[in-house]
Amino acid sequence: MTAPVIAPLASWMPDERLKNWAGNLTYSTDKVYYPTSVAEVQQLVKKYERLKVLGTRHCFNDIADSKYNLVSTNKLNKIISLNEAQRTVTVEPGIKYGELAPYLESKGFALHNLASLPHISVMGACTTATHGSGVKNGNLATAVAAIEFVTADGTIHTLSKERDEEKFNAAVVGLGGIGVITKVTSDLQPTFTMKQYVYEHLPMTQLKEHFEHIVSAGYSVSLFTDWQSDNINEVWIKSKDDDGFNAGPEFFGAKAATKNMHPIADLSAENCTDQMGVSGPWYERLPHFKMGFTPSSGAELQAEYFVPKQHAVDAIFAVHKLGKAIGPHLFISEIRTIDADNFWMSPCYKQPSVAIHFTWKQEIPEVMKLLPVIEKELAPYKVKPHWGKLFALSHTQLNGLYEKMPAFVQMLKEYDPKGKFRNDFLNRNIYGV
Ligand SMILES: Cc1cc2nc3c(=O)[nH]c(=O)nc-3n(C[C@H](O)[C@H](O)[C@H](O)COP(=O)(O)OP(=O)(O)OC[C@H]3O[C@@H](n4cnc5c(N)ncnc54)[C@H](O)[C@@H]3O)c2cc1C
Repeated sequence: MTAPVIAPLASWMPDERLKNWAGNLTYSTDKVYYPTSVAEVQQLVKKYERLKVLGTRHCFNDIADSKYNLVSTNKLNKIISLNEAQRTVTVEPGIKYGELAPYLESKGFALHNLASLPHISVMGACTTATHGSGVKNGNLATAVAAIEFVTADGTIHTLSKERDEEKFNAAVVGLGGIGVITKVTSDLQPTFTMKQYVYEHLPMTQLKEHFEHIVSAGYSVSLFTDWQSDNINEVWIKSKDDDGFNAGPEFFGAKAATKNMHPIADLSAENCTDQMGVSGPWYERLPHFKMGFTPSSGAELQAEYFVPKQHAVDAIFAVHKLGKAIGPHLFISEIRTIDADNFWMSPCYKQPSVAIHFTWKQEIPEVMKLLPVIEKELAPYKVKPHWGKLFALSHTQLNGLYEKMPAFVQMLKEYDPKGKFRNDFLNRNIYGV
């Protein structure tokens, strides 16, 4: 019954290999498979000795790369069921947040948070601990209640938050290493509406004195800066309609914008979600960029660093000191907060955090030279990198930052004893070989 399915699934592109979203990485194989069911996933996993799952290709490093076979979740993108009583939704892993959100809204539900863009796959995002902002909002994986996955021997496993606490916490932010996640159940909340306000030119002196107030002013707050002055360029405050951010003409010395803004002030705000206090559904306010439009700037690179929230101000000022070196290569930086979680490999494991993000021009040698400089400056604050973006920290450094790393490696070996889902990224950063 299973044998004939494999061959027609192969999409083989001899001359044109697939690239990641930003185009800075060409995947190392032209063998890409597009299963449409769990049974097809199982066949592929059983057939090949080495493979890697691919989501929507939005990572900037080689975390999703394979020299052998790629199994795309592009066609595993359906909504499986909604449990209104338990307030959960179960979906296939490749569905994009931008596809799931309008459905949830139509049923009266919402997710607790979204990343800056809705274009990414649910499981590709959760497995790298992708996050939005908000002092009380954990990363996107914190909404996950259960997963189903196919391990190296082709068998199906499930883990749930309620039943399998430790293993669940090890597996959800699993960096693509545990197998092919084929179903994900997420916790929901009642739908809500939001307003978005942008303020320009927030003095850094205000940030130093009032950091906690500023980042707690709304449900989700983002600070955008190019580090070229003593001001934060833009403050984006996303406020739930019922939690009453009192929008005035000034915010800690920053002035209310008079039109919709792009995080890079010179770019048109056409791609951006509505601002100026216009109320709208959660999924059209939480991301900065609209579905159907190019998010961010397009041809770019990204890096992002997390430090414990108590070091936020020191870390921000440490990066500010590097402004001259950073400036020529940067489009924009974004500073966000993320609440603590329990996922072993999350940068926010047991630690409310602040994330300092860099959208770079696509100048790879220059950016790769700058990253160790930034990492050194942030080292006193136990800096951790975003798993899906560029970084230079070594396995030894990462191992020292993640107390659960040895236990995580042990778990990976249990599910994948022969390294079927290992790739250069996991070998280099996690296994240290
Ligand atoms: C313009 C832009 C804006 C961004 N904004 C944010 C942001 O606001 N916040 C943030 O934190 N990050 C952000 N990111 C980073 C992005 O969220 C992450 O890179 C995320 O992992 C992308 O998901 P993906 O589906 O494209 O993953 P891919 O790059 O396709 O894969 C990532 C990893 O997930 C694994 N994987 C995918 N699906 C499965 C599955 N079903 N089972 C097992 N493993 C799987 C892959 O093997 C790989 O290891 C942004 C990226 C871009 C390009």
